[in-house]
Amino acid sequence: MTTKYIFVTGGVTSSLGKGIIAASLAKLLQAQGYRTTIQKLDPYINVDPGTLNPYEHGECYVTNDGAETDLDLGHYERFLNVPTSQANNVTTGRIYQSVIEKERKGEFLGKTVQVIPHITDEIKERVQILGNSGDYDIVITEIGGTVGDIESLPYVEAVRQMKWDLGEHNAIVVHLTLIPYLSAAGELKTKPTQHSVKTLMESGVQADVLVCRTEHELNDSIRTKIARFCNVTEEAVIQSIDASTIYDVPNLMLNEGLDQVVLNKLGLKSSTPDLKSWNKFLDRFNNPKTEIHIGLVGKYVELQDSYKSILESFIHAGAENEVKVIVEPIHSEYLKQNNTMLKLSHLDGVVVAPGFGERGIEGKIDAIRYVRENGVPFLGICLGMQMAVIEFARNILGITNANSTEMDEETANPVISLMEDQKHIINKGGTMRLGAWECELKENSLVHSIYGKKNIKERHRHRFEFNNKYKSQIEMAGMLTSGLNPKTGLVEIIEIPEHPWFVGVQYHPEYKSTVANPHPLFVDFVKAALNYNKNKNSVTVAQK
Ligand code: GLN
Repeated sequence: MTTKYIFVTGGVTSSLGKGIIAASLAKLLQAQGYRTTIQKLDPYINVDPGTLNPYEHGECYVTNDGAETDLDLGHYERFLNVPTSQANNVTTGRIYQSVIEKERKGEFLGKTVQVIPHITDEIKERVQILGNSGDYDIVITEIGGTVGDIESLPYVEAVRQMKWDLGEHNAIVVHLTLIPYLSAAGELKTKPTQHSVKTLMESGVQADVLVCRTEHELNDSIRTKIARFCNVTEEAVIQSIDASTIYDVPNLMLNEGLDQVVLNKLGLKSSTPDLKSWNKFLDRFNNPKTEIHIGLVGKYVELQDSYKSILESFIHAGAENEVKVIVEPIHSEYLKQNNTMLKLSHLDGVVVAPGFGERGIEGKIDAIRYVRENGVPFLGICLGMQMAVIEFARNILGITNANSTEMDEETANPVISLMEDQKHIINKGGTMRLGAWECELKENSLVHSIYGKKNIKERHRHRFEFNNKYKSQIEMAGMLTSGLNPKTGLVEIIEIPEHPWFVGVQYHPEYKSTVANPHPLFVDFVKAALNYNKNKNSVTVAQK
């Protein structure tokens, strides 16, 4: 079949959850047998979000092929369980970069290079790369930002042209808006939606489906009013009411018939989506047998989006273990050796988060010392793993000035140091060790038993590494390097066999956890935390 295109735009305000609606719709289409992928177009000028601070843009998500992308791609993968790639996230910066490179090569044959047609053509080409791959029946393209923004204009124009080029039934627009509730008037208001649909029409684009975010149920008269004023059929007015978890949204959209309206408009057959395993996950997630508390030690903890994939991985792993995982943010800057007991002793497990730079580093090291000495399950991710190596070198080997050259370039004992092939790199964007790399696990290690195999591939985003000059010293003292890159010998995993569950990974397991495939490391870590919690409670009972 020819590939069909669905564009998801947003109006009235940002943060309406376009990514979750796109992912939920994709889930419903996938569950009816359609090969579906989702793409995000971001209207900012950064070439990718890799250089953006998490305060600005939340987590940077990394694909198998090493693209540094918007965190919405994480939702796409978690919902669909299908990997995304470089082609799934395109920014204005990347579009312009590519057009300017073509101009320098003389590809435009003396023509004046303009927003229309050159930028819009490049956008259209990027949208169709996925469709032309032959891998997908349906491509959903989410357009970041809000219609009416100056920077969104070329994207909306590209959508207008594609709808025209591809013809009816081949490309549709799903527009997300807000229906605010005015408590003083006690009423839901449709005017912002009308204006936003009108703004879209000013650019020549008629929305085919409206998804209306609301805190209260939309009654029939409101639906009729929206349909009448916005040129859509009544069944194409879809209510998207606030949900307690994003994982409820596919079922909410199913109840509203979003999949049916969309398939109908695309001229495709609709059937009952097979959501058996999705609902099984929801059932476990909603009916936990007990709860545990995990501390997430990091420096961006005040922002939910900064560690998005880690939080979602705990939801998957919690459901798998039928336990509610309460993740408590712990600010590493306020952790000191003399308060770790106070701040960490109630926890059943501790994760030390990825990160860059010096801020909060000593607090992370103190937290690791506490969990190592007290047998609390520990998972160190990327920077968290590097800090575990520093802590071990300082407090077990007695190398008190052990450090990473990221924090102290002149350190006399760089147990973590800049990777050789990073030494000549000047540009910051897209130059880290990125994407999926192979790792070989040592037999008889904890990770080998967790993964149940010898060769794994995990995703990376770092410049510094375990310094192999210290390897034998560190191993002799009881830290096992249990996973290595088979080609370079780079240490990917460390563990302490004497400790009940102490694992540090140079890679980011959180990027690969999905609803259908919870990541084994998170699943086993939660299991260990559950055991820790049970033992702790049985000791307290015995003491009473
Ligand atoms: N800053 C460290 C490095 O570049 C760790 C990176 C990370 O945690 N993603 O190696």
